[in-house]
Amino acid sequence: MVNLETYNKIVENIPQTVTLVAVSKTHPAEDVQTLYNEGQRIFGENKVQELTAKYEVLPKDIEWHLIGHLQSNKVKYVAPFVSLIHSIDSLSLLQEVNKQAQKSGRVINCLLQFHIAEEDTKFGLVMDEAIELLQSEAYIQMQHINIVGVMGMGTFIDDVDQTHREFKALKAIFTQLKEQFFSEKQDFKEISMGMTDDFSIAIAEGSTMVRIGSAIFGHRNYL
Ligand SMILES: *Cc1c(COP(=O)(O)O)cnc(C)c1O
Repeated sequence: MVNLETYNKIVENIPQTVTLVAVSKTHPAEDVQTLYNEGQRIFGENKVQELTAKYEVLPKDIEWHLIGHLQSNKVKYVAPFVSLIHSIDSLSLLQEVNKQAQKSGRVINCLLQFHIAEEDTKFGLVMDEAIELLQSEAYIQMQHINIVGVMGMGTFIDDVDQTHREFKALKAIFTQLKEQFFSEKQDFKEISMGMTDDFSIAIAEGSTMVRIGSAIFGHRNYL
């Protein structure tokens, strides 16, 4: 069940400079359509199969974001239409995105995903790996990807101070990369951080893009 009241409250309360990605994973296409009818156009999914299935049946002016871990062998299914990939965590994945984007005649916008959680379980790059990636000849040659910012997930924990620390760390990573690699690049500007339980903290720490699922679509029932 879509919670339109909460959705409208979120839309009214987040700053206009912050993009809302409505995370529809595990929820049916009808729920996406309901929110689409309210004016929402940006939706996030974390699985390639579910993303492509929804893309097929829903309006074509939806901007689909892939927010979950992406395996190289699945890039080809989303390359023709995906509008932003949040989860680039290796040079080899970026190379595959570049290759498949070329085949589709596209340039695909991407975010570098960083490991910011103090817990050990999340995907993502650390700074040294990102620097190595951005300095590599392979990256410099890529014509079909466009890195527009960074993404990270905080620890799932009810510790406000820790969450602030983790999001501050991502903002610092963004600032360093901006200075070192993207100072001339206007469209390197996105900091994707904040979910249902922590998006207010993320916005306070400089998020430009929040990824909100359960507050809008209700709890997920994983099969
Ligand atoms: C599921 C998911 C979200 C949304 O989570 P909620 O807590 O339901 O808002 C955001 N980002 C990623 C990467 C996700 O997998």
